[in-house]
Amino acid sequence: MATTLMRNTAPREHPGRYYGFMAAVAVGAVVIAALTAAQAGSPDTGWFSAPFALWLTAGLALFAELRPARWAGLGMSPIAMISLTYVYSTMVTWGFVPALIVQSAAMMLLYVQLGASLWRSVFNLSQIGIALCAAWWTWTGIAGGEWTASLTQVAGLLAAGMVWSVVSTAQVSLAMKMRAGGSWADHFWAWFRSEWALRATLTAISPLLAVAASTSWWLVAVSAIPIFSVYRILQTAARREEQAERDPLTGLLNRKGFQQAVEAKLVDAGETNTAVTVMILDLDRFADVNSALGHDVGDKLLLELADRFLADKPLGKQIARLGGDEFAFAWSELDGMTDPLECAREIRARLDKAIVIDDVSIEIDGSVGIVVYPDDGKDFQTLFRHADIAMDESKKRAGSYARYAPEFDHHSPERLILLGDLRRALDHPDAPGVNLFYQPQVCLATGEVIGAEALLRYHHPERGMVNPAEIIETAEHSSVMRMLTERVVDIALRQLRCWNDAGYRLRMAVNVSVRDLQSPEFTDYLTERMDAYGVDASRLQLEITESALMADPRRVVDNVQCLSDLGLGISLDDFGTGFSSMQHLRRLPVTEIKIDKMFVTTLIDDPDNAAIVSSTIDLGRALDVAVVAEGVEDEKVRKQLEDWGCHAGQGWHFAKPMSADDFDRWLHLHRGNS
Ligand code: C2E
Ligand code: MG
Ligand code: MG
Repeated sequence: MATTLMRNTAPREHPGRYYGFMAAVAVGAVVIAALTAAQAGSPDTGWFSAPFALWLTAGLALFAELRPARWAGLGMSPIAMISLTYVYSTMVTWGFVPALIVQSAAMMLLYVQLGASLWRSVFNLSQIGIALCAAWWTWTGIAGGEWTASLTQVAGLLAAGMVWSVVSTAQVSLAMKMRAGGSWADHFWAWFRSEWALRATLTAISPLLAVAASTSWWLVAVSAIPIFSVYRILQTAARREEQAERDPLTGLLNRKGFQQAVEAKLVDAGETNTAVTVMILDLDRFADVNSALGHDVGDKLLLELADRFLADKPLGKQIARLGGDEFAFAWSELDGMTDPLECAREIRARLDKAIVIDDVSIEIDGSVGIVVYPDDGKDFQTLFRHADIAMDESKKRAGSYARYAPEFDHHSPERLILLGDLRRALDHPDAPGVNLFYQPQVCLATGEVIGAEALLRYHHPERGMVNPAEIIETAEHSSVMRMLTERVVDIALRQLRCWNDAGYRLRMAVNVSVRDLQSPEFTDYLTERMDAYGVDASRLQLEITESALMADPRRVVDNVQCLSDLGLGISLDDFGTGFSSMQHLRRLPVTEIKIDKMFVTTLIDDPDNAAIVSSTIDLGRALDVAVVAEGVEDEKVRKQLEDWGCHAGQGWHFAKPMSADDFDRWLHLHRGNS
């Protein structure tokens, strides 16, 4: 709300009606002011032969707006308009026209400083012009005549000041209603409540000033002192208010100040259909700097960073330190922001150079979360929460920045509902919904089916089939993952037993998640289930993805080693898509590499992917681990892989993932054909 009056934008809906209203006020002001001026006539004191005291009053009105007092108790207007008290006294001592000129000049001075657009300045000059006419009519209606400071005249002047405020507020409230919606009365009262005390004070001073102006210039000069005191009190209060919105260490905005600044931007952006970008930067390992080098150095580092963010081309219109090692930035399209990712790169670029403090060179790094209004949220709270989530995601990926995406949000209402439903489906061993499909893995040289990959299928009672990747992402951050994997392992082992009993010597590949690999209990569960179904460990293959290995490498590596010691095969899934495939190959007891389908499906047409696949097969041979290609979609790819010496393939060319019954039928047919 705070900047409503100060905005240069027009509302998105019915801008024509809004501008029409502004124009009507402007035309109305000219007509009413002309009529009022005609009625008021020339001032008795004359135009240029008026006493110096009146000229001084007019001059002080302009002087008061040279550095306009900010109004800390701001409800809607952040400016106090101290000059009004001089305008009222000019009106009663010199006349309407001089008062109108003084008021217009003082306000023009104010609007120029506020950077108001032309139409906004014209509207405001017009509406306060009309307010002054109303004040003049009130004054002449009650008292009028030469200023003698009689009781009726003082009452008339006070009433005129009140009418001025009411008429001005009434017009602005109408503009507000057109701009922001809501009821006119609500806007009127909101404004009145926040402004009445200041307006009443300025009005109450004006009779004293009028007495001074009609007596001598030095009395006018002396009476400027209490007015200056009011000005100082307002400035001090405004400064306090501003300090409450600043971070004491860096002087940047704090969280509260940032919120206010961004909310004002969102109102403008909403009305102009433009975008706003909000970013959160979190420094990496800042706590280490504090504990190793002391808080003094930590503070200096934050100060240096704040300087860098403000230097040259400041990073964004609003920069804040949210506390600790977190900074926030906001840009809007209205400020000239174009590409949000470019902004993020700019932030990161300022971290590139090491910071030298007390001869110690400190390398600093950080992760940036990006959100854009209106795509990623409509209000500050949502945007801020999503920026935080994006920042976490960028940290997790060890990337430098990430734009928010709903799938990062493991706590969105839809996900929480999905998680609850999944938990219910897993609570009872016989509850329907969670099942496995099986996709064959085929030896490329002989065409023999060597095994199957078990792939999760969840049929939600309302949503139908849910994408397995979404389920894993949702469940992975909760205890449901453990229940899910246990169910998957149980079904897969039972199925393996059935195939064994039917005379098929197959192996089963099961995907495991990060969470499973972090606890040693998973190993115990697997051993217990393999015993229960009488399945040999060598028949089971665990598919581990690289992201799973990134989470807590040491613990994961220990557990994988235990599983391998049991005799299970360890397959590195989606090979080539992560950051540190090679490192994992060395650290883990890997028995198989699964080349990601991203490289395999297109290897015929894409020489780069072909090179990646063929060299991965060579690597597997050199390290003596099997290589399985996933995503084999046609014969050409199959043949090429066979020529390169790839052991096995999996993909739609052989079969899509199928239910256990379909798999049995397929297996039967395949045996018959081969
Ligand atoms: P993944 O382990 O890499 O599984 C292979 C994915 O590729 C499967 O997707 C499969 O349906 C698909 N696919 C197979 N052949 C082809 C092909 O020729 N072309 C193309 N374009 N795609 C093919 P799905 O079933 O949607 O599973 C997605 C991912 O979800 C899996 O990727 C795995 O990471 C995860 N997942 C599935 N089931 C489980 C599970 O029981 N536990 C865990 N932790 N993760 C699972
Ligand atoms: Mg897999
Ligand atoms: Mg895979």
